[in-house]
Parts: sequence; C-alpha cells; structure tokens
Amino acid sequence: MALKITQAFDGKVPFFTLVGEINEETNILEPLVVSGVPEIRINCKGVRRINSIGVKTWVQLFSNLRNKGVELKFVECSPALVQQANLFPNFLMGRELVSFYGPFLCSDCDKESEYLFTPSEISLKGYRVTDQKCAFCGGKAEFDDVPEDYFHFLNRNA
Ligand SMILES: [Zn+2]
Repeated sequence: MALKITQAFDGKVPFFTLVGEINEETNILEPLVVSGVPEIRINCKGVRRINSIGVKTWVQLFSNLRNKGVELKFVECSPALVQQANLFPNFLMGRELVSFYGPFLCSDCDKESEYLFTPSEISLKGYRVTDQKCAFCGGKAEFDDVPEDYFHFLNRNA
C-alpha cells in the first residue's frame, strides 16, 4: 500500500496523518514541507512498514526540518517506527515523541494487539509493563517484546 498523507490543523499547527508503507516509491518530502510554521505534528499509527530506503527518506526529511528550527511531534507511532528509532539515533528524538504503540500477544487466543504508551509513563522509576486485556477474547495480553530493547530509544535521546 502506497503511503497516503492527509493534512488537518490542530489549532494553527499542521497535523499530518501517514497511512501505508514508506519505501523507495514514497516521496514524503513534498507534502510535509510547510514553510513558516514553528511546529508540525505527525500521526504515524498507520505506518505499518518502512524499509531501509524509507528510513533514509524519513531521516533526511526530518533532519532538514529540525535544522530549520521546526519542532516535530510524533503521535501514536507504530511499532515499525519504534523499531527504527531503536536502530537509528537520528530517526526520532525521544522528546519529539507524544505517544507510541507497543506490541502485545494474547496468551489465550494468540492474537496480536497494540496498546498506547506515553514516554513519561515509561520513564517513571520502577515502571513495569503491565498485562492488558485482550481486545478479542478478554484474556490476558502480554507485552510481546523485550522492554529494555523496545523502550531503549527513550533513554538514549530523551
Ligand atoms: Zn485473546
């Protein structure tokens, strides 16, 4: 699925929603470059996959915007993006992150689901990921990754 970008406004702040895959066919540079705004918000819930070329495009775009002094806020980042943030320090700065999803797996019905986190709850001392109620069967959904690895990027560049 090609990347689809829609734009709305959150007050005066441009608010983009990205849905689809970011790869060599994606030119995400054009629509996100809004001149003269101090901040943009990007909802990334719908970005299910991003390949290495997509990562390069992403880093280029957002580094450029940072260098121009634009404040970036990433909202509801998908696990695919969190994985990249853990691999590449300049992919997404911890302080730019408003919220993000973590992967869960139900121990009863084996279905995968995602739950939303905020960086501030993770940074609480002694924080432990709690089990969630499975959206499909009501059973116990457990965090489906290693917390130290998955949340690593938050510590690195908070
Ligand atoms: Zn279940």
